[in-house]
Amino acid sequence: LVQYRISLLGMGSVGKSNLTTRWVNNEFFEDYSLTLLDKYTKRVIVGDQQCQIEISDTCGQEAYTSLRTQWMKDKEGLIFTYAVNSQESFEDIKNTLLLFQQLFEKQEYVPSIVIVGNKIDLGSERVISYDEGKQLASQFKALFYETSAKNGSNVNQMFIGLINDIIQQ
Ligand code: GDP
Ligand code: MG
Repeated sequence: LVQYRISLLGMGSVGKSNLTTRWVNNEFFEDYSLTLLDKYTKRVIVGDQQCQIEISDTCGQEAYTSLRTQWMKDKEGLIFTYAVNSQESFEDIKNTLLLFQQLFEKQEYVPSIVIVGNKIDLGSERVISYDEGKQLASQFKALFYETSAKNGSNVNQMFIGLINDIIQQ
């Protein structure tokens, strides 16, 4: 059994907590004010590898550089989340990616990263296209998925894709 640690990063309300609960417990919460635990674990078999995944669901203090830095340390995988209906959340994730780049440019070990455009069920409210997200991902050599924590679309694929990338590193 190997243990991998994953953090979710991104602005408040992009859906970090619901992506986590969708994957871990197959649950979705409409209520934003709900208080959720910030650490989750799930066991999965990927390929022939038994893994225990520890997920740190960061909760709202992402504005502070020192805290964002802290969340990126000692992790094997990082999930950079924006919502496809929020330009602000897309700009925010770009800043966090630049911080990531600074932090790891001189490091031997660099965590696997995935960029996630969440809330694709809100089709008519979309302001960030698939191509814009995909382009950002190729710029930072990240995996890319568009998801909906609400209907579950691509959520498992995204987590398993990241874990696969971690295993293959
Ligand atoms: P966090 O602050 O990033 O952890 O965001 P939450 O997971 O708490 O979600 C914020 C709000 O967006 C809540 O009201 C959720 O119900 C809603 N939400 C999260 N994911 C989705 C999604 O994929 N689609 C839609 N329509 N709403 C979502
Ligand atoms: Mg949250």
